[in-house]
Amino acid sequence: MSGKKQGLLLVLSAPSGCGKDTVLTEISAQMPIKRSVSMTTRAARPGERDGVDYYFADEAYFLKMLKEDKILEYTNYNGHYYGTPRTAVDEWLKNGETVVLKIEVEGAGNVRRLYPDSVSIFLVPPSMQILEARLRRRSSESEEEIQSRLTIARSEMQNAPQYDYIVVNDRLEDAVEDVRAIIRAEKHKSSRCGNQLSEVLHYAES
Ligand code: 5GP
Repeated sequence: MSGKKQGLLLVLSAPSGCGKDTVLTEISAQMPIKRSVSMTTRAARPGERDGVDYYFADEAYFLKMLKEDKILEYTNYNGHYYGTPRTAVDEWLKNGETVVLKIEVEGAGNVRRLYPDSVSIFLVPPSMQILEARLRRRSSESEEEIQSRLTIARSEMQNAPQYDYIVVNDRLEDAVEDVRAIIRAEKHKSSRCGNQLSEVLHYAES
């Protein structure tokens, strides 16, 4: 049965330091997903690669992309712009792929409005104390930046009920399995299998 399924747009949000990247890396290794690479005006952290972790850009270039409607959604987070380049996402969805956007809550709200059949998951830490410890362990930010990220995290958590699913990232393996299960189930929604169904019926009738 080769009928092409409609792509699945998945939005994954989590407070900074909650482990979204680790969860996504594990999932990428276990199932085919396309991860959108965002554009940001913040500086690269040690080890981050341009074009892989983010497209690092200056503000003038980001605003030019925005003006040319090449950014699907964007936000200003902690003083820096972050946005999802449009072309790759639209292309992947057209090809029936599972596309993951790893974005914050404001952007997630915008995607929900733009793509009503997208699916959103909010990843939460087991506790705020554990989140703070994880942020400190990463030690890539100043104390001021850590405090600012914790304040943002507290306010972001208030938005969790607006997401379709909430997953607690306590044991990594469990969080990965939960997200995989959500993706698998969503891909089988009858609304996404229309083409396949028509093909089955077509064969049955011919
Ligand atoms: P970080 O600086 O820790 O890499 O990212 C800060 C926040 O911005 C995270 O919550 C991350 O998910 C979010 N973010 C990254 N890229 C985008 C994007 O393209 N759009 C939006 N709305 N948020 C993004």
